[in-house]
Amino acid sequence: YEEDLPDVITVVQAREAGGVEVFESAEVPAPRPAEGQLLVKTAAAGVNFIETYQRSGVYAVEYPFVPGKEGTGTVLAVGDGVESFSIGQRVATTEAATGTYASHFLVDAAKAVAVPDEITDEQAAALPLQGVTAHYLINSTYKVAPGETVLTHAGAGGVGQILTQLLKARGARVITTTSSEEKAEIAQAAGADHVLGYDGFAEKVREITNGDGVSVVYDGVGKDTFQGSLESLAVRGMLVLFGGASGQVPPFDLQELNARGGLFVTRPAVQWYLRNAEERNWRFTELFAHLSSGDLKLNIGGTYPLAEAGRAQDDLENRRTTGKLILVP
Ligand code: NDP
Repeated sequence: YEEDLPDVITVVQAREAGGVEVFESAEVPAPRPAEGQLLVKTAAAGVNFIETYQRSGVYAVEYPFVPGKEGTGTVLAVGDGVESFSIGQRVATTEAATGTYASHFLVDAAKAVAVPDEITDEQAAALPLQGVTAHYLINSTYKVAPGETVLTHAGAGGVGQILTQLLKARGARVITTTSSEEKAEIAQAAGADHVLGYDGFAEKVREITNGDGVSVVYDGVGKDTFQGSLESLAVRGMLVLFGGASGQVPPFDLQELNARGGLFVTRPAVQWYLRNAEERNWRFTELFAHLSSGDLKLNIGGTYPLAEAGRAQDDLENRRTTGKLILVP
């Protein structure tokens, strides 16, 4: 099969830290799978907020930098010792070993999952990172019980729509925020019980909960919402800060957690919740089951040619998107 492998692949890379103008398409030598790895021909790659932090320099990376850890496609070659996958099989991952903003990528077989036949390439590219995130947030960071009331922000976003659907499947009551009427309708269609604007949301959360506040807030907006999220919590509630779409939260006085009722704050990330094969299989098996049963629908908000990855990131950073963005080579 070696003859069928490409000599070069196409990638989109950031030359240096900066705005989306630092992206360029490039042809680079095709990688070959090392022991335990798969070479995958990309069918679709997921776009995620973290890649904007890496491009802009909020997170340290080495340039030129090919973003993307999420993708789906067909196995073109397998490295020595791979027994779990074969050539031609469809796989997806949120933990690629090389950037997925590319025509091909490498992934450790241990970090790839087989894509069931009934799942489309688009779904398989859209699910991993945002799906696993929603799954760990409500099962492992703070386990939401049926009947509980929860606040999540950016309810029309990629993670937001999945979170709401999984919370509704659990039987929770969902309060969420969005920045426009159009986005509010999308959040509602995902199942949110109450959709608020960002202005004074904490007060409205108190009203909805008869003064109690919510037991957990899932906050991926960060800088602009952090304070209001604290103010929305019930005694001993938990603020789960999982992102900073509006910017990073500045240093914070821990005494405020005492003053507001013995609160908890945590700052999780997906790699701390995919620690081994058992965790990975559990999360993906449940997510695929939610897709098959229909209680989870993935809303693809935009499909962009790979070469226009910069436009996708620009739309994401400037709040012009809803749902999931994917790149297609
Ligand atoms: P989204 O599709 O949710 O896009 C971000 C949304 O945030 C926007 O659409 C916007 O919705 C809202 N937002 C609020 N304020 C701002 C602002 N000032 N600038 C830009 N957007 C703003 O993105 P994702 O679903 O990909 O990610 C959501 C969050 O989750 C991100 O912070 C991301 O980093 C985080 N994340 C964290 C993970 C983890 O494991 N820790 C894993 C995956 C994602 P609106 O206009 O309605 O306010």
